Amino acid sequence: MSNENKKGKLVVLSGPSGCGKDTVLNCLCEMDERFCPSVSATTRAPRDGETDGVHYYFISKDEFERRIENGEFVEYVEYNRNYYGTLRSEIENAVNAGRIIVLVIEVQGAANIIAQFPDAESVFLMPPSMSVLEERLRNRGTESEETIRRRLEIAKEEMEKSRLYKHVVVNDELEKTVQTVHDILTLYTSEQ
Ligand code: 5GP
Repeated sequence: MSNENKKGKLVVLSGPSGCGKDTVLNCLCEMDERFCPSVSATTRAPRDGETDGVHYYFISKDEFERRIENGEFVEYVEYNRNYYGTLRSEIENAVNAGRIIVLVIEVQGAANIIAQFPDAESVFLMPPSMSVLEERLRNRGTESEETIRRRLEIAKEEMEKSRLYKHVVVNDELEKTVQTVHDILTLYTSEQ
């Protein structure tokens, strides 16, 4: 499972909750079939419109802990009182199939991946400002006031860690952002 084998590519994409990571990834997958999302496992409850096996593998805490014991995760974290983790099998299958697999994960997990796979590409998506981020979180309308406030606090801490990433992209205009991220990741790929 290496990025040096000219097969697939491993990419971590992070950014505060509400900064548009999932939208950017969806657009990348639509514009270029080499891209695919990594489906993480989590113990948090599904939000409206989320499907098991598509957005996440929604599993119980017991099941998550059993899989930790089994060594099934490349990385996992406890975030906002829930477990989130990347399954080794997700990455292996995609990289072996020559895909550009994108892990949308928070900064601690990203640091873990970057340490294990130095050749992995990493992109931090910045919101244009804190007030825009707050507005996006509120407009999503899926979270309580307390969760929004906690996510904004986490966002501040995460933005301070953006220097860990090879690339930082400000998501002010979706189309431009997607093109920039695509160029960064595919130009790098074609050089190999
Ligand atoms: P959400 O609850 O909004 O879907 O996700 C909360 C945070 O967990 C987001 O920053 C998301 O990127 C991150 N996350 C999702 N899956 C994983 C994972 O497998 N590992 C890690 N470390 N973070 C994840």
